[in-house]
Amino acid sequence: MELYELTAHELAELIRTRKASAAEIARSFAGRIAEKEDAVKAYITVTEDKMLQAAEETDRLAAAGELLPPLAGVPCAVKDNMSTAGVRTTAASRILENYVPVYNATAVEKLEENLIPMTGKANLDEFAMGSSCENSAFFPTRNPWDLSRVPGGSSGGSAAAVAADECAFALGSDTGGSIRQPASFCGIVGVKPTYGRVSRYGLLAFASSLDQIGPMTKDVEDAALALNVICGRDVMDSTSLSAEAPDFTKALTTEIKGMKIAVPREFMEKGIAEDTKGAVLAAMKHYEELGAVVEYVSMPNVGYGLPVYYIIAPAECSSNLARYDGVKYGHRSPLSRDTFSMYKKSRTEGFGPEVKQRIMIGTYALSAGYYDAYYLKAQKVRTLVKNDFEKIFSEYDVIISPTAPDTAFGIGEQTDDPYTMKLADICTIPANLAGIPAMSLPCGFDGKGLPIGLQIMAPALGEEVMLRAAYAFEQTSDFRKKPAFPGGNK
Ligand code: GLN
Repeated sequence: MELYELTAHELAELIRTRKASAAEIARSFAGRIAEKEDAVKAYITVTEDKMLQAAEETDRLAAAGELLPPLAGVPCAVKDNMSTAGVRTTAASRILENYVPVYNATAVEKLEENLIPMTGKANLDEFAMGSSCENSAFFPTRNPWDLSRVPGGSSGGSAAAVAADECAFALGSDTGGSIRQPASFCGIVGVKPTYGRVSRYGLLAFASSLDQIGPMTKDVEDAALALNVICGRDVMDSTSLSAEAPDFTKALTTEIKGMKIAVPREFMEKGIAEDTKGAVLAAMKHYEELGAVVEYVSMPNVGYGLPVYYIIAPAECSSNLARYDGVKYGHRSPLSRDTFSMYKKSRTEGFGPEVKQRIMIGTYALSAGYYDAYYLKAQKVRTLVKNDFEKIFSEYDVIISPTAPDTAFGIGEQTDDPYTMKLADICTIPANLAGIPAMSLPCGFDGKGLPIGLQIMAPALGEEVMLRAAYAFEQTSDFRKKPAFPGGNK
């Protein structure tokens, strides 16, 4: 067994018991990245030197007898839409191709405070807009389970890096499913916390009322440990919650007798692939065998989630992305002669087609005369979706569903079919609209051997019951497998 194959908690245990040094672990991951990165292309920037330095610092502190934080020395990848001081942060966009922030996102700062070395900046769909990583302005990332397929998106680089053992765990961001859907496609665990649990300070904003940072990990225990690091109130983000973040590892028991689990029929109906449906039905049965009460319910408004999202998210993006104007950050067109042409040319050259389309849709939806018809209406329907969840959670502890309608598709297969591509988020978007925590964990494989994800959703601030439901399933099932690379995993 190589060090890079271990989970974060297994690596942490080796460091705690002095069976491995942080530097040895960092070197193991550096070797693995060198070996696999050409095939997977999970990273936009690999920060090997920085990782090794941080690991050596951890070893120095350990040698000096300092008490180390729980994940000290365990290497983590960071999605390239989070600011990293002194390290290029691109959001996979030409407009930020050479942007080097002067400060860390709060989540990144917390990694550093916890002595967690950073492996590098992971690829994504440009500005987190997409479901396949193909919208990266630089290159697509490949799914380690099948290199001809997408890893999902937008946190596809983070998911692929975890699945390919190119980091022990990763941070992603989730606006409509961008942590959970790639976690599902790559056979790993991904958690979108309650809106406000993790500070958004330093996360390059896409849709601010939906964006949330979360962990992508090899198992549920690692997710709980990573949440302990990144959650908490931050004065730099006024939407971050003041609720005290508990020790999430305390929630990890397999005792779920009497837990009430709802399965909305609307998530199991049209468009869900047979193998995916089969795996979720098997998971329902599994939960019953563990003593939970599993019942079908109805959420009549949840089907409006997708159209509502595609008004609200572009509206917020059109406002957030107005700051990239060639003046303050990033690319400035050398061809411009006056201020207006500088704005226009810088943005024309800097943004890719998906981003431009969303800015235009959002600007349209917010413009005078259309605001009431689109944006205001979408906000009202958002409340209906939220109410549907509240009603279910007044009777049930958690909701389960497929994470995505199908497993990973081929690179290029859906680029001409934007509607099907957007349907990839039909199961994940409602949780963002409602602000509730939701996660994905492996629950099976399809006929092609590709991983299937189970989504678990819980009421706001209900991460603990969500993690318990996930842990109980994981510990009593056997779906945590690793991809076999062509020619073997070595
Ligand atoms: N795939 C969705 C989109 O394209 C969600 C993206 C995300 O969660 N960042 O907007």
